[in-house]
Parts: sequence; structure tokens; C-alpha cells
Amino acid sequence: MPDISRRAAILGGVAASLGAAATLAGCADAKASNTGSFLVRRASSVLTMDPARGELTNADIRVDDGRITEIGTGLSAEGADVVDASGCIALPGLVDTHWHMWNSLARGFGQTSKGGFAPSMASISGLFSPEDSGLGVRLALAEAVNGGITTVHNWAHNVIGPAHAEAEFEAMHSSGVRGRFAYGYPQALGAAEPMNLTHLREFAGSLPDGLVSLGVCARGPDRSEDAVWQREWDTARSMGLPITTHMASNAEAAALGGVEKLDARGGLGPDVQLVHLTAASPADLDAIARAQSPVSISPWTELQVGYGLPPIAAMQNAGVPIGLSVDNTVLSGSADMFGVMKLTADLPGGMDAKQGVVADATVLDWATAGGARSLGLGDVAGVLAEGRPADLVLVQSDSVNTAPVYDATTLAVRAANPSNVSFVMIDGVVHKRDHRLVRVDVDVLLAEAQDAMASIRGRAGI
Ligand SMILES: [Zn+2]
Repeated sequence: MPDISRRAAILGGVAASLGAAATLAGCADAKASNTGSFLVRRASSVLTMDPARGELTNADIRVDDGRITEIGTGLSAEGADVVDASGCIALPGLVDTHWHMWNSLARGFGQTSKGGFAPSMASISGLFSPEDSGLGVRLALAEAVNGGITTVHNWAHNVIGPAHAEAEFEAMHSSGVRGRFAYGYPQALGAAEPMNLTHLREFAGSLPDGLVSLGVCARGPDRSEDAVWQREWDTARSMGLPITTHMASNAEAAALGGVEKLDARGGLGPDVQLVHLTAASPADLDAIARAQSPVSISPWTELQVGYGLPPIAAMQNAGVPIGLSVDNTVLSGSADMFGVMKLTADLPGGMDAKQGVVADATVLDWATAGGARSLGLGDVAGVLAEGRPADLVLVQSDSVNTAPVYDATTLAVRAANPSNVSFVMIDGVVHKRDHRLVRVDVDVLLAEAQDAMASIRGRAGI
């Protein structure tokens, strides 16, 4: 168990250092007030990701009480905390559409003495306590914010018991990061057994208001029996919850005909996200596009685990709504959405042996506005516009790896990395400033993560 009083003291210390602009409403849960005014001043470019607005140069962004109130030049700084954005590109916070946050403690565990990814994770997943899972989520969220990700889709596929779901949700809720918690199942659950739908219902009725909404991650037709996934689909839909499932991730999975099964039963739609589809057929992609089921790809992990090359151009041509994802840092090593964008931009050209198959602007849309739309958050995230919640990041364009700037979009997709993210705001609350996380005690977090993983490894014999 974590030392609650120690954590509260740490959070109190963080609160004291935050200043008036981002005062904590309550130290125990680290929720922050989003009242206050900010002027993000003179960004060299503002990539609004709003087709009607496009890119602005040498522009300011005014934020009041959590919302963007003005984007333009020479805006008033009256009563505002001024953030100097000179030499920076401003863009909406990045959106990750599929991430197993609990296993962030097992960074780099894709190959161990137990073998590859599957046996390595099978040797430790049952050993995670609720506190371990919550800690994994906290580590993932800190890394997300550090790298400019302000919206996450936490794919909780190791809900061993109710307390695991509660710990993961609480880690998200108290972080102040926007996202969806996708309630799942224990890794060891048999294909003939449904997830704990009784607790799902109780859980759904007990959640606080905030930036985190609820969804369901299910094993679906590829990894559970028909009667099981159909019951899980029916339950989620009766509760109005969006669903996500891994699908057609390799040839063996695709041969099960899961997309066809879903389509035949009305199991596709904007509320059903499909993950990977690395081995999807053209007919699968057409069915998915017709239903407008969003798809999440995670090129780094798909390459490392042997799923193969995501058919990005085919998905684009079929009209499938696409979002990008980290998936997990067990395989990917780090949660670098800039790296995900760069790989996503270049894979289609390599596969088709020609340049410019997918435009950089399209890739940046998938990582921002498109990703948000795919999660049903198109009205609140992924775009910088007046009246919207202030989720924004500044990326230094005057660093040795980003200057000189030819095109701000290309810089974001191809040159930048998390170390260039100097400022992050979510819902009007500052999370990173002057390259420093201001709501997380990183030293304490990393020490907790090291200790927890050492204990898990000891028990697993790795
Ligand atoms: Zn996944």
C-alpha cells in the first residue's frame, strides 16, 4: 500500500510551488482549479487544426477559466499570467487513442528470460496489485504530459478485480489529464468467461464528474467466444458506453472473420473502436468504413511484436477514421507520439515505394483533431478554437533539432520529440512549464515505480 500521508505531503509541497495561476482545490486528490487567465504570447505558429482557421503566425492565445477565449495577434494580457511562446509552435494537445497504461511499470519487457512479449507479460500480469496498476497509470500519465499528450484512452485489460479498476480510474481522475477509462478484464480470463459486468454497472454508477469518461475494452470475436463478446457488446451498448477491441492483428486472427461477425450482428459503428487491423482484408476495411468504426493503429508496437505493417494507405483510401496510439511502453520503449507520427507518415511511402502517400497534415490531424473525433471527443479536444477547453502544448521550434523551420506541420510530424515540449495545459490547468512537470513529483514517482517493479520481478523470478 502507498503511504497516503506521505503522498499528501508531497502533493501539498507541489501545491505550494504552483502559485496562484494553478492553485489546487484539494491536496489529497491533486485536483486543480481551472480558474485563472493566461496569455500564451507570440507563438511563431499556431496550428489550430481547425480547417476554418488553419495556421496563424506570430499569434497569441488567451485562456480564461479553462477555456480558450481568443486566438489572434496583440491580445490583451490584462489580468493574465503571460506565457512567452516566442520560438515555439502552439498546437492542440496530442491525442492517444489506445494505451495499456497499467503495464507501464514493465517498460522494455518485450523480451525477457521468459521469452517474448506474451510469455513475459503472462509471467507478471497476475502479480499486479491494484496499487501497482494505479502506479503504472500514474507513470504513463506523467510520460504522456511530458510528451505533449493531453488526451488518453486507457485500455485497462488487466482488471483482476474491482479494486484494480478503481485504482486505475482514480489515477486518471486525480491527474487532471483528459481521457477515457476503458474497463476491461483480467489477462488470465478464459475465452468462455465474460468480464465482471456486475461490477461494471456498479462502477458506472459511482464515477465522479471530471475529465475522464467511461468505456469498455473487450476481447471481441478474435479473443473470446461468440456468446461472451455478444453479451459484453449488449451490456455496454445498453449502458451507452463506447467499446474498443483488438481486431485482425495478424493473419491468424484475421482468419477468424471477426470483422464480418461484428458487421453481421450490427456490432460496428462510431461507438466501436477497432485496434490494429494489421491483417485486415479490403472487404474488412470497406465494412469498417461504411460503419464509420474508428481504428487505432500503433505502428511501433505492431512492428516489434510481429503483427506486421499497418495498411495505413489502404485505411485512408477506404475512408476509415484513423487515430494513433502508443499501445504500451513494454514494446515501444517510450510514449513518444512524435515518433509515432513520424513512423505513420513514412510507412505508407515505404510500402508503396513512392513519396507523399500520406500528407504530414493528415498525420498531424490523426494525432489531434481526428484522434479526438475517433474517441467521440471531437467537440472538446484536438482543436484550438474559441470557446473550447484549453488543451494546448508549445513545441520549441528554435532547438538544434527543430530549427530552421520550413513548415510548422512538418516540424511537428518529423523533427520534434518530447524534449521539445516546453509547456502543456489541460482544461486551462498548467501541467508542464519551462520544460518541467509541475503537478507530478517525478523523483518520488520513479522511485515508487522502481520499487514496485523490483518486487514484481522478484516474485516472477525474472
Ligand atoms: Zn492493445
